[in-house]
Amino acid sequence: MTTSNYIGGKAGVGQGPEVNVVDPSNGKVIRTYRSDDGQSVEAALDAAHDAFPEWSRATPAERSGILHRLAAELEAVAEDLAQAETAQTGKPIRLSREFDVPGSIDNVAFFAGAARRLDGQAAAEYSADHTSVIRRQAIGVVGSIAPWNYPLQMAVWKVLPAVAAGNTVVLKPAEITPLTTLMLAEACERAGLPAGVVNIVNGPGPSTGESLVSSRRIAMTSFTGSTAVGRHIAGLAAANGTRLHLELGGKAPFVVYDDADLEAAVRGAVAAALINTGQDCTAATRAYVHRSLFDDFVGGVANLMRRVRLGVPTDPETDQGPLVSFRQRDRVAAMVDRAVRDGARAVTGGRAPGGALAEGAYYEPTLLVNADQRSEIVQEETFGPVLVALPFDSDSEALQLANDVPFGLAASAWTRDVYRAQEAARSIEAGTVWINDHIPIISEMPHGGMKSSGYGKDMSTYSFEEYTQVKHVMSDLTGRAAKSWHTTIYGDI
Ligand code: NAD
Repeated sequence: MTTSNYIGGKAGVGQGPEVNVVDPSNGKVIRTYRSDDGQSVEAALDAAHDAFPEWSRATPAERSGILHRLAAELEAVAEDLAQAETAQTGKPIRLSREFDVPGSIDNVAFFAGAARRLDGQAAAEYSADHTSVIRRQAIGVVGSIAPWNYPLQMAVWKVLPAVAAGNTVVLKPAEITPLTTLMLAEACERAGLPAGVVNIVNGPGPSTGESLVSSRRIAMTSFTGSTAVGRHIAGLAAANGTRLHLELGGKAPFVVYDDADLEAAVRGAVAAALINTGQDCTAATRAYVHRSLFDDFVGGVANLMRRVRLGVPTDPETDQGPLVSFRQRDRVAAMVDRAVRDGARAVTGGRAPGGALAEGAYYEPTLLVNADQRSEIVQEETFGPVLVALPFDSDSEALQLANDVPFGLAASAWTRDVYRAQEAARSIEAGTVWINDHIPIISEMPHGGMKSSGYGKDMSTYSFEEYTQVKHVMSDLTGRAAKSWHTTIYGDI
């Protein structure tokens, strides 16, 4: 029977209902596994608790050495990881090879180094009679839940800062994309990570996921996924008083001022809207374009979108594959249909392609105009290859519209004017603001949201704020039984 979990350093098989992993480019089942039946979550929590005392007391250099070996183990199977990622998600092999896999390995390498840099304030005599020391300690067992859009990268983002800081982890990947996360666990074993430091359980969110995050045996929940599920999980964490880190949905604005480089904005918008078939929480979804450039922008984007090559994900010539599932494709199609019914117009796309691609979960790159700012297609996350373009007349209007959604994950401003760029960077409510670009991320810099996009940071040493707790140790320096401050409490008796 196919491996479905990885607990205490051993591959195992769940005893729950069967789950199919489907290639969305043709609907064929590529793997069937038996999900967790509740037992594997408990077994994984046992293993993570057993591993915590030793792992949290390992020196930073010891943890770092193992994580460097993990980066090398992943590098050795990079092509296998890319093939598996493409098979289970439908993303073009070029994206898996050039973005998902190398980005994940770089993140592992970054945290291998960062494990030795857990910073804090200098020890000192902040009170004349005491020495204060800061300890930055691991939290304990972290329960992590990841989404399906970048399965390997999201697993790495959840696991690496946690274990680099000395925590142990039980991670549940999305049920439809478990393969590369299990390969990550195998690489952890080959790298010599002690058994139980990283444990993987697979199964549906409402059963396996919920039993993990509602357990009183986890010290922290770290969740990446939709805002609706994130809010539900926040309720479960609140009931237990569990620490929480939430990376949720996005609806990124893409603001094009009248002095922008139009060609750069057009190219940037198409790349940022279509990356990962639009299933990217930071994807450009709302282009606000100064009215003087609007028609040229719309024409340019539509032309470029029409030239994007849809095809088999394993073909290196393919620019855009299917969405991750037929369910997701139908969700996106229904949202676009409702937008059109309510007055929006599809300049290009707005439908699933026919011919050979009809057997997969494909959807054409889509550019919509005439949508209302208050409508669903502008306010809600689409998570598909769909860009909405809306005109604006003044800088203040552009910034007001950019902020006029519940989300706050990412945004970009396109201008040659340094003052406009600075004002956009300051005013837009988002965890990342790009200037004259949109999408690039880097391991040294944080990723995370504001508003309904969640709170806390992935990547960078900022993520250690989530995965460590700061302890103040204050030592008396006087050696006196009667401390000077005692007189405040009971005078000089
Ligand atoms: P989702 O919320 O449906 O599922 C995410 C994970 O939660 C899956 O593993 C799922 O099994 C699990 N889950 C579902 N219900 C659960 C429950 N009741 N209890 C516990 N776990 C449960 O999201 P998705 O469709 O897999 O992924 C797409 C979403 O993820 C989008 O909203 C996207 O914006 C978001 N996302 C955010 C970031 C970020 O960094 N902010 C990154 C990637 C994806």
